[in-house]
Amino acid sequence: MGIVAEDVQRVKLHAPLSEVVQQHVALRRVGARLAGLCPFHAEKTPSFYVNDELGVYRCFGCGASGDAISFVREIEHLDFVGAVEWLARRAGIELRYDDAGESKERQRRARLVEVVRRAVDWYHQRLLTAPDAGAARAYLRSRGIDGDTVRAYQLGWAPDEWDALAKALRVPDEVLRDTGLGFVNRRGRQQDAFRARVLFPIFDVQGDPVAFGGRLLPGAEGPKYKNSAEGPLYAKSRTLYGLHWAKAAIVHAGEVVVCEGYTDVIGFATAGVPRAVATCGTALTEDHFRVLKSYARRVVLAFDADAAGQAAAARFYEWEQRFDLDVRVAALPGGADPGELAQRDQEGLRAAVADARPFLAFRLERVLGHAGLDTPEARARAADAALAVIAEHPRPTVRDQYVMEVADRCRVAPDVLRRQLEAVRAGRPVRTEVVRRAPATRDTAETTALWLLLHRWDDVAPYLDARLFTDPVHLEAFRALAASESFHVALEQVSGDGRALLERLAVEDKRIEDPEGEAARLVGEVARRTLAERLRAADGEGGTGPEVLVTAAWVRTQIEALGDASCRREALGQLLRWVSEPGGAEGP
Ligand code: ZN
Repeated sequence: MGIVAEDVQRVKLHAPLSEVVQQHVALRRVGARLAGLCPFHAEKTPSFYVNDELGVYRCFGCGASGDAISFVREIEHLDFVGAVEWLARRAGIELRYDDAGESKERQRRARLVEVVRRAVDWYHQRLLTAPDAGAARAYLRSRGIDGDTVRAYQLGWAPDEWDALAKALRVPDEVLRDTGLGFVNRRGRQQDAFRARVLFPIFDVQGDPVAFGGRLLPGAEGPKYKNSAEGPLYAKSRTLYGLHWAKAAIVHAGEVVVCEGYTDVIGFATAGVPRAVATCGTALTEDHFRVLKSYARRVVLAFDADAAGQAAAARFYEWEQRFDLDVRVAALPGGADPGELAQRDQEGLRAAVADARPFLAFRLERVLGHAGLDTPEARARAADAALAVIAEHPRPTVRDQYVMEVADRCRVAPDVLRRQLEAVRAGRPVRTEVVRRAPATRDTAETTALWLLLHRWDDVAPYLDARLFTDPVHLEAFRALAASESFHVALEQVSGDGRALLERLAVEDKRIEDPEGEAARLVGEVARRTLAERLRAADGEGGTGPEVLVTAAWVRTQIEALGDASCRREALGQLLRWVSEPGGAEGP
């Protein structure tokens, strides 16, 4: 039994969140926010913040966060439906349930799917025939995607116009919104969600089109990828691109290859591995694993698993056990992505999948493969590093297998390693706890800039762009904010860490007198770093010539000018332009 989505939304937005919270927590105003003692953990000073505008709360002490529904769930110990009913009773809203109108819901879904299908066709025809799609066709050809492939995957082109699709579809506002195809803009007019992008239609496992992934052409301004916002048809954490084409091959092989890009899926199929699927702009989630479990016994990860790091390792081990799956990593030659590789080395791509190794073996190789093992000290060091990796695995029998391998390679007695492994595991909290620990909340120039984007958009937006963010989580958050029409849409675009960061920043109260000055601080940092890099590069190319030194002096003057309010804006513009020039040799 479910509650009609529209009613859930009505309940959630009926009253300011603080009204709900006030029934349990005394809130007082701190700057623009409301703060109080957290109801979810014991504390003496308030670290629980509520943002009514965005309808979210967050505790900086224990990390609890969410919206009105999750607050009621936690505090009243109710499930989702129960929490919605609780809120509805207080708001005097009468709820409608799915089971009564189940066939009605189904009809509605069918209608939305039909609209998305029309959009798929419309975009597809644009790509095949429209004169303005020439650059898109050329780009796809350059990536080895020919006309047959374009037809097979129904790729499309969203023209560089703001309402071309909306005009062609002529559907009610709420249909446009619920399909993720567009929205109503501030002027009250329908606007397309995608503009000037190559589109990859995303189908659910039954083959119904439910969303799009859009890619900018090389050289265009803006975030490279954009996906449909989530809605009644589309949940990112459960959707895998390509699954409906690949499922027969996956079941047949008992194996699924998971990659990160739409062109990777196409590349694998071209190379004769038709069992690849991709996440749609999110990290792999537990829900994805739950879906994959019904088709395969082995999951081969074909993306940069190194970058995923330790936190991901802990999750993969856990899911491997819970879903009884064998998780392996394909070492892609030269760190290339599968889409590229399919163009120049199909053999290598197939071999990477065939030779995929267990996740722990892969991580261990990263440690031992790079270590010199030619002296006793070096072998001991390598063994220590290897133990730290082995210690992450939850199963003792698996750990012991790898201990013996390390003992062999590093020429250490297995029992010595076993004792040491126990010490490592006893001396540290288990990995999963490390993962769950609340992130440090000290703000850097980058997170401050993100805060300003959330709260003082108009003051800083002109001075910020993607090049200024080096931390991948910050970059992801920035791109989502820059590309989304609202905070909630942005939240849907980011994965775990980025989401936690945005939720925290949304409720945080900062006193920033001079937002432009903060933007200037970030641009200054980036300019300084870029200058150092370019000087190093010039050094490497045979010495710093006079032009380089002149440029360096000019850049330093501009950085200094950032501190002077009267010429700051001009310096900001100059530096942003200089930082974005690829070679950057000539400054002034
Ligand atoms: Zn708390």
